[in-house]
Amino acid sequence: MTKFVYADNAGTTSISKTALDAMMPYLTEYYGNPSSIYSLGRKSRAALDSARETVAAALNAKPEEIFFTGGGTEADNWAIRAALEKMSAKGKHIITSAIEHHAVGHTLSALEKKGYEVTYLPVDEKGQISLQELEKAVRDDTALVTIMMANNEIGTILPIADIAKIAKSRGALFHTDAVQAVGHIPVDVKALDVDMLSLAAHKFRGPKGVGALYVKKGHAIPAFIIGGGQERGRRSGTENVAGIVGMAAALEDAVRNMDENIAKITRMRDRLIAELSKIPYSRLTGDPVNRLPGTASFVFECIEGESLVLSLDAKGICASSGSACSSASLDPSHVLLAIGLKHEVAHGSLRLTVNEANTEEDIDYILEVLPPIISRLRDMSPLWEEKMNVRV
Ligand SMILES: *Cc1c(COP(=O)(O)O)cnc(C)c1O
Repeated sequence: MTKFVYADNAGTTSISKTALDAMMPYLTEYYGNPSSIYSLGRKSRAALDSARETVAAALNAKPEEIFFTGGGTEADNWAIRAALEKMSAKGKHIITSAIEHHAVGHTLSALEKKGYEVTYLPVDEKGQISLQELEKAVRDDTALVTIMMANNEIGTILPIADIAKIAKSRGALFHTDAVQAVGHIPVDVKALDVDMLSLAAHKFRGPKGVGALYVKKGHAIPAFIIGGGQERGRRSGTENVAGIVGMAAALEDAVRNMDENIAKITRMRDRLIAELSKIPYSRLTGDPVNRLPGTASFVFECIEGESLVLSLDAKGICASSGSACSSASLDPSHVLLAIGLKHEVAHGSLRLTVNEANTEEDIDYILEVLPPIISRLRDMSPLWEEKMNVRV
């Protein structure tokens, strides 16, 4: 029997039993519309209210600062468009980083075509922006600064509190895409002092297609979806009650077990990093210190990332090369190029992301299977042959 190891938890996670158990009643017997006033509807309304309190508490926010969305991408789109509309009198300048998820990056490139001006802050080889460069980039007409809390491809964690402070000192709104951070590392919206923050349930063992946008109290942001007036008139449409309940249960669980999970996950990640770094012509990508507990990301020279992922799949291992969203294209990831890797090196990227559902046996198996696959792929590679000939 071939083993099965899921090591693509930055792409999505398995749903936890806690989340699924919490959802089941709302997929079966409690199917009422939360807007209905009879008791079956009130049961759903109560579940929504309670989920909002749970999500708020996990972030140190107030329940009225939480708006449920259809996932991380929607939260990012909403945050950006709402901020720009709200700040239209200030200007049309936006600052972001060169390593954002496409939910932010592609939204901003669409806005550039509509007359907005975007400054893309470069990052160093670890994936960190320079705070001095941010300070220089902020202008009087800067409406929004949006910079991610943790990168999905290389796991770098950015100093959001410092970044938010600089953005806000000049009167710009600050949003962070915290989709990779929430449920994995401590996220306290008051301590970070952000205006808006996005999260998605399926990255912390909740269901797919549900997320939330935190909006600091006092910022009356415009509506994103118009209709029946749900989410205090800002995001209409009958609520995904079961999904929202599942998200709250998953987040509560993640926060309750965070210290323990971080210790366990970091141990697995560090074994992967220590062992796979021994492979010749391999390199860890991202910040070696300020990085997500579960992200082990590499580039292997003279390797085609796609071939590597398919070879691993044949051995029952799910991993990714670049991000899931860009893996359909042949262009190397914008994140890997932004940290200064050459095209041909960036093509040989591998991202292994583990969470608390993984075991040390999973790591044993990856470490047993991966090095021989790399040797085999290199043996077939003309680039590798060339490289070895040059050396001798
Ligand atoms: C996954 C992800 C998103 C998109 O979230 P969805 O729920 O899949 O729409 C946005 N930003 C980051 C950093 C992500 O990792």
